[in-house]
Amino acid sequence: MTATNHALTGAVIGLTIGNPLIAIPLAFVSHFVLDTIPHFGFKGTRTDEQLLGQRWFKWLLVTEALLCFMIVLTLWLQQPHQWLVGAVSAFVATSPDLYSIPRFLKVNKWRQAPVKWNAFRRFHDVIQTETMWGAAVEAVWLSGILYIFMQQLGK
Ligand SMILES: [Zn+2]
Repeated sequence: MTATNHALTGAVIGLTIGNPLIAIPLAFVSHFVLDTIPHFGFKGTRTDEQLLGQRWFKWLLVTEALLCFMIVLTLWLQQPHQWLVGAVSAFVATSPDLYSIPRFLKVNKWRQAPVKWNAFRRFHDVIQTETMWGAAVEAVWLSGILYIFMQQLGK
């Protein structure tokens, strides 16, 4: 899913559970659960070059990074109960996608060495269920998780 959906889901897990020993591992697992739900993407229809190298995709990444930053900033400013666990869980829930950075750098020729398709990369790729209509799923998820997040901000 999009980074924003992963981050909001992680934040909600952290704020709801509160105990970091449970919330943080659960936030990490949530990433892979969300990736198995049909979501927006071009798996099997576009190569890394046709996606990670595109200008619009880079703008999407910048926008999403800003949105993720704003989620953590909102938690810091509002400081709801267990906000720090929420912020860390938001980061952890999004973090598996940071492992794609080497692929992004390689495609854009900012990295020379080839990217190894190790077990983690293969697993993360295999579980993806990406489709164009997954954008609708992302929108539904976003409105639901954003609503819960806003409720929690007042606590
Ligand atoms: Zn992912």
